[in-house]
Amino acid sequence: MSGVTATRPAPAAHPAPGRRVAAAARSATKIYGAGGDTAVRALDGITVEFPEGRFTAVMGPSGSGKSTLLHCLAGLDSLTSGQVVIGDADLGSLSDKQLTLLRRDRIGFVFQSFNLVPTLTAEENITLPLALALAGRRPDRRWLDEVVATVGLADRLTHRPSELSGGQQQRVAVARALVTRPEIILADEPTGNLDSRAGAEILGFLRRAVLELGQTVVMVTHDPVAAGYADAALFLADGRLVDQLEAPTAAGVLDRLKALGG
Ligand code: ADP
Ligand code: MG
Repeated sequence: MSGVTATRPAPAAHPAPGRRVAAAARSATKIYGAGGDTAVRALDGITVEFPEGRFTAVMGPSGSGKSTLLHCLAGLDSLTSGQVVIGDADLGSLSDKQLTLLRRDRIGFVFQSFNLVPTLTAEENITLPLALALAGRRPDRRWLDEVVATVGLADRLTHRPSELSGGQQQRVAVARALVTRPEIILADEPTGNLDSRAGAEILGFLRRAVLELGQTVVMVTHDPVAAGYADAALFLADGRLVDQLEAPTAAGVLDRLKALGG
């Protein structure tokens, strides 16, 4: 690893005085592959806590374990060792059914590769989690309209994913994660395919979700400007936490990235 850990104290696990932990990974290790030469240690004993009602950006070079961390936090993938908690639930102790319900009711996930259902329209993709969660109850149409307006999709709702640009598909993916107003939004580069204006609208919306609705947002991003919307930025390298920044600014994040890359 770089000299960063030698020149500054080892980073603590994102301390949060007085706040409950919305999600955490503790001593989390994820090894892909059978072992020996082909094994990849995507997470290497990392401990990170995401406080409730906070917006945290996760940064780090390609391959540093950001997506793996998010997938394990969401219970979409399981750890090799260590623990993931969502609120007071230890994911490793849940049955498949309990895990499915927890994901459905409490987590909104934005996939780096969108994961839209190709046969459904944009609107059907967005409302799919609602249909699953509400089981016949009426959706909150005003909230749905607000989400759709924010991601700027009102005139694309009847299109299928193959008829949408990458940026539009990304907006559908973001809207789908927000539509149930989950406690926790885990977003993997949610603005990576958007121009700066569309990106700013979505980032502003995530910011407001934290401030006004008390939601917890964990967002992977490469973009220092996007990280500037967060309350804290965590920096990963080689599956470990190597640094963090409170109240990050774009310029501050850029400096830190340069220092870590050097
Ligand atoms: P990031 O999102 O930071 O780019 P990832 O979490 O996707 O990084 O990947 C971390 C490491 O784990 C990389 O070396 C990647 O190649 C490896 N990896 C990720 N997913 C898999 C998988 N399903 N099988 C094997 N290796 C994987
Ligand atoms: Mg990734």
